Amino acid sequence: MIVLLVGPQGAGKGTVAERLSKESGLVHISTGDLLRAEAKSGSDLGKKLAAIMEAGGLVDDNLMLDILEKRLAQPDAKMGVLLDGFPRTVPQAKALNDRVIVDCVIQLTAPDEVVIARISNRWQCRNCGTIYGVDVPPKTAGICDKCQGELYQRKDDQPDAVKKRLATYYKETEPILALYTDLIKKVDASRKLDVILQDCRQALADCRNSDG
Ligand code: AMP
Repeated sequence: MIVLLVGPQGAGKGTVAERLSKESGLVHISTGDLLRAEAKSGSDLGKKLAAIMEAGGLVDDNLMLDILEKRLAQPDAKMGVLLDGFPRTVPQAKALNDRVIVDCVIQLTAPDEVVIARISNRWQCRNCGTIYGVDVPPKTAGICDKCQGELYQRKDDQPDAVKKRLATYYKETEPILALYTDLIKKVDASRKLDVILQDCRQALADCRNSDG
């Protein structure tokens, strides 16, 4: 089963994907996390990726497809996948559709002012990548509950990069939805996390049922 989570930054894709994956057994694949891991490795490729991400740009489609292909080829991906952050362009979506059958698309929607406010309160663990925010604050400010790592604000979550990323989302990513009109389940992501999660669980259950 392949489920896509689509929505602007700050809609809660990462948090929703993490929770849904724990509950459903689907493997959470975040292309942002894959890229950040490469960037953290300090490789030449990682340095290039870090510069693109920090500026709020998009990584080249062919490179992205290569990275995703390698991840999908790992054995755990056979359990079914929750894709967070991919596809982000029409060429990526077309290439994905050539390789797999997408079963369901959960579209998280939220107005710009809501996502901008959320992102400015978003903190991530430098060590394990866990995301904290208004709905899910850490027990101690600045410290990760899970691994005691340091929490930081991603450069691409700073105001200029956020504006650029939102503009890119509307221009490059939203058009992919036209490829999945029959599969889309819209969830209003401007509400509290537990209500959003409930709707997402329902969307996933509906999707499993329609899959037979
Ligand atoms: P995310 O954690 O999903 O917000 O991704 C962080 C950054 O990684 C994005 O702003 C892009 O620079 C890059 N990125 C993640 N996924 C993709 C993708 N599918 N295509 C191109 N760039 C991506």
